[in-house]
This record gives sequence, C-alpha cells and structure tokens, in this order.
Amino acid sequence: MSANPIYSTIPLDALGKQLGHLGVPYSHNLGGWANLQMPIAVIANGKGPTALVMAGNHGDEYPGPIAILKLMRSIAPEQVRGRIILLPALNVFAVRAATRLSPWDGKNLNRSFPGKPDGTLTEQVAHYLTTTLFPMADIVIDMHTGGRSTDFYPCAHMHLVPDLAQRRAMIAGTLAWNGDFAFLYTDIAGTGLLPVEAESQGKIVITTEMGGSENVTAAVHRLTQSGLSNVLRHFGILQGKAVSRADLGLSPTRWVQALDREDYRFAPESGLYENLVTLGENVKRGQPVGQIHFLERPDRDPVEVVANREGVLIATRAPTVVGQGDCVACIASEVDPRVLG
Ligand SMILES: [Zn+2]
Repeated sequence: MSANPIYSTIPLDALGKQLGHLGVPYSHNLGGWANLQMPIAVIANGKGPTALVMAGNHGDEYPGPIAILKLMRSIAPEQVRGRIILLPALNVFAVRAATRLSPWDGKNLNRSFPGKPDGTLTEQVAHYLTTTLFPMADIVIDMHTGGRSTDFYPCAHMHLVPDLAQRRAMIAGTLAWNGDFAFLYTDIAGTGLLPVEAESQGKIVITTEMGGSENVTAAVHRLTQSGLSNVLRHFGILQGKAVSRADLGLSPTRWVQALDREDYRFAPESGLYENLVTLGENVKRGQPVGQIHFLERPDRDPVEVVANREGVLIATRAPTVVGQGDCVACIASEVDPRVLG
C-alpha cells in the first residue's frame, strides 16, 4: 500500500502554539498544481494527554467549526497540560459549500474510515486520521449537528463500547458536556464511521449532535463552546476546574438511547412534513410525531408518522419538503444510568 500523501506545515510534536494546515496536492480544471489546505493548530505544554478536537466532518454543521476557531485563537500554551490538536474543517470543501458530502468526490467522510492512502481526497483524509492523528491521541472529540436535514436536541452522544474502562471514561467525558440529554446511538446508516475507528483504537471518544437545520441559535453556540472547554478541563488538558450540572444549578443529564431501527422513523411517502411534537418532549407509543401532506392530492388525508415506543423526541426532520425514506424522527427511550456500566 502506498504512503499517505497528506503533509503538515507545522510540527505535530513541538511545544508552544503552531497554526498551519494539512495539505495534499490535487488538480482541478483551473488549478493544475493546487493543494488542499485543511486548517490545523497544535497547542502543547508540559506533560499530559493529547486531545484531538475535530469538526466539519460533515460540511453543513457549523457550531463545531466556530467553537474550534475560537479556541485556536484564545488558548495560550501556558493554559495547557499536554497537547490539543485542533481541526475545524475536516472536509474543507464541504464546509465551504455547506454540504454534507464532499462536493469534490461525492463522499461522506463519516462513512470513509479507515480510509485509503491512494483513494479520493476524502478517503485520503480518513486514512491520515486513522494512521497518523488517532494514534497520537488519548481523547478524540468529533463535533457534529444534524446538518441541514435533521434538527437534534443539542446533546453529546456515544456508542456503548464493550471495554468497560474505555466506556466509563467516555461516559464521564460525555457528561462533562453538561447537556440536558446524553444520547446512546447505533449506526443505522452504514459503516466506516470516524468514532468507530477511533474506538477500535481504544480512544476515549466524545461526539455531539449540537442542534441542526440552517439556523444556529446563540444557545446552541454557547453549549457547544462551554461544553468543549469543560470536557478539556475534565481531562485536565485545559487549565481550570471543570463544572458539573449541579454546580450550574441544573438537574442531572438524562440518558436516552435509540438502538433499534424502529426508533428511527422514515417518511413512508414524499410530501410536506409537518412536525407535531417539539424536540425534547416526551411522546407515548402510537402518538403521531408528524404527518405528511400531499400538494398534488389535496383530497388525501395526511399520512401520520407515529412513535413506535414511549420516549423523547431527540431528533426531527428539519426541511419541510421530504422524500420517501428520509429520516423524519428519532424517538429515544429513557435509560437508567446505573445500567451503563
Ligand atoms: Zn454530522
């Protein structure tokens, strides 16, 4: 197998603060000798763990990139014990274009792991993360939202990995985001996910779904930024004491899970989707969470989408126009935190 062609313009193992980019040569019709430039910062000081903090895995998810850009500018090396590697735009072309998939090669970076050194640009980025950056990291943070298609109740989320020590560290890190909910999820839409690759390397993986749709509220930006800093403090990498929800006068984080395909509801027909339930509200089994209207058939009654179980509406369709098979709702059920391990 050939070597990965991606290079870094800054040393990844130097102390202090370095800003630069990861580059890889590529060609387009008006750029024969072009270079992809993915921004990167490394802030290191003293001994301590390494946190790899990423966003822009999907391009149309902006709270994470903005939170990382702010950290890149604001953190001084003296505030760090260990190393923070910051990547605000993993899929640069998609972040520029506000698309989920790379407009360059049509690939979904979060379905491209472990990647290929001689594959498309997206596959090369996945391979570089798998073989160069993940092995350097103790903690891997990948910030998402529901993108333009899905609106999530802002939360941190995770897989229940089988290794108990790894799982407990991930649970503690997930709780340090201080969201109202923490969400256990399953991979209903394919394989090759970034967190799965990082988990298989034994990393403490913290991921988020910080809202979604086109609009990012000030509250979502605040939770993204305060949660990220608090997680870095929790692991002792960023100076300062981590705060808990109790410290903030808030009730404990509610653990919820959607581990069955039936928890994810898909549009049975194309049409106009009407949300009937507000995100974060409790729903009963059989309760309609939305309905689909038919512009071309005003005589038809709308088709209801119902909850298959009692739970919380944790995610919902963002655009009103919906196609058959689009995910329109995710109903997560309450989990007793004592069973998490
Ligand atoms: Zn995403």
